[in-house]
Amino acid sequence: MFEYAPAPESRDIVDIRPSYGLFINGEWVEPQGEERHKTVNPATEEVLAEVAWAGEADVDRAVQAAAKAFPVWSAMPGAERAKYLFRIARIIQERARELAVLETLDNGKPIRESRDVDLPLVAAHFFYYAGWADKLSYAGFGEKPRPLGVAGQVIPWNFPLLMLAWKIAPALACGNTVVLKPAETTPLTALAFADICRQADLPPGVVNIVTGAGETGAALVNHPGVDKVAFTGSTEVGRLIARSLAGTRKKLTLELGGKAANIVFEDAPLDQAVEGIVNGIFFNQGHVCCAGSRLLVQESVADELLDALKRRLGTLRLGDPLDKNTDIGAINSAEQLAKIRELSAAGEAEGAERWSPACPIPDRGYWFPPTVFTGVAQSHRIAREEIFGPVLSVLTFRTPAEAVEKANNTPYGLSAGVWTEKGSRMLWMASRLRAGVVWSNTFNRFDPTSPFGGYKESGYGREGGRHGLEAYLAV
Ligand code: NDP
Repeated sequence: MFEYAPAPESRDIVDIRPSYGLFINGEWVEPQGEERHKTVNPATEEVLAEVAWAGEADVDRAVQAAAKAFPVWSAMPGAERAKYLFRIARIIQERARELAVLETLDNGKPIRESRDVDLPLVAAHFFYYAGWADKLSYAGFGEKPRPLGVAGQVIPWNFPLLMLAWKIAPALACGNTVVLKPAETTPLTALAFADICRQADLPPGVVNIVTGAGETGAALVNHPGVDKVAFTGSTEVGRLIARSLAGTRKKLTLELGGKAANIVFEDAPLDQAVEGIVNGIFFNQGHVCCAGSRLLVQESVADELLDALKRRLGTLRLGDPLDKNTDIGAINSAEQLAKIRELSAAGEAEGAERWSPACPIPDRGYWFPPTVFTGVAQSHRIAREEIFGPVLSVLTFRTPAEAVEKANNTPYGLSAGVWTEKGSRMLWMASRLRAGVVWSNTFNRFDPTSPFGGYKESGYGREGGRHGLEAYLAV
């Protein structure tokens, strides 16, 4: 194998302030309470900045600002709203390198991913929904679809800026105004986005960003002035939100956890499948709701595929996320690392066999090596629970029917992958898999034009594409 010289991306391009307030009504304001929290670089544990902790009064101020902006924003012709969205998209492209470095510092993901996947998709979402803003009458939701009002949006830490784009772009295109709460551990790109809104001259109050913890999120979703709630995160919190919103007039979409099956048949192009398996579970350290965390491989090719997979994993480089050679970055937080360790220990205790390539772990920061479990039974916790880390559970099957049975044997239903050279088998499988997205001979492919969302405990509603407009319109 090659030895790679380090090729670190410079962090000079980002300008992180020591302390951030809240972005309300187009202004930076101080929170009413004294409490603040620190956001750290998970690769080094270095404190990056102090961030405001919004309480109920601050959330109220943000919702009121959004409500005040709503009549003007929603009455604006779609073509005018589109101009703002196009402008935001272009600024994101212009500032893409800065935003990618900032995302990598705050989140721990490799710069290769933030630069080549997250940021291009963020810009693409704004461009895509900008295109819809003046065509809503032709979207299939009636002649004059109306926006809902104020959207309260709560997002997780795994794709901080991308999740912001998934939420804000369609909401604004449809004429809604927004209060968004980023995750406690990854607020910095959302705060940079606030500056982009100012740079784009977005009218005050159309986008408001309130930082804080779970209580801030709860205050936002429960605020009586919020008309629509969009949440991405754990099934546990999604359940709490669904319960607290039941019986209210608020419209709700939930994008929750997953335990996707990545299914490899004996007729699949195995080298390509190995790349798809690696991308499916080790992309973004496995912090992906639709990660292919269960590999279902046909028994006849299991040994061959696992040998090839292990060889490939031996070439992955774990380490400095700012190094352009890095494949596996840092785990986002100490809490998440503890959860991955706990579930991996449970896998061993329940009798599965654990394997990781030899891979040096940095002294500081939060790290977990790529890990493969074989001999996994369907009853094992590592086959049932979302680990949200670089941990793959391998199961085998003999017949297509058994593959379907095993793949669907989960409370989740977000995504699945099928590797086969036969189109008919692909379609046969896709029509039986209970998953919102089924990838064929690929995995973790995203596109703003394509709807994304789950069945069962993976949530409801769709984001992306024309379907994603529905969540933000009174239809
Ligand atoms: P959460 O579901 O707790 O966090 C998602 C967002 O919701 C964050 O902004 C969080 O704020 C906020 N939040 C937390 N509690 C509430 C509440 N009661 N009301 C409203 N908003 C709330 O996920 P965690 O970050 O705690 O991760 C826990 C587990 O969830 C992970 O280990 C992983 O398995 C799974 N997960 C799944 C995701 C997915 O996309 N499927 C995404 C993230 C996590 P804050 O960050 O400040 O706590």
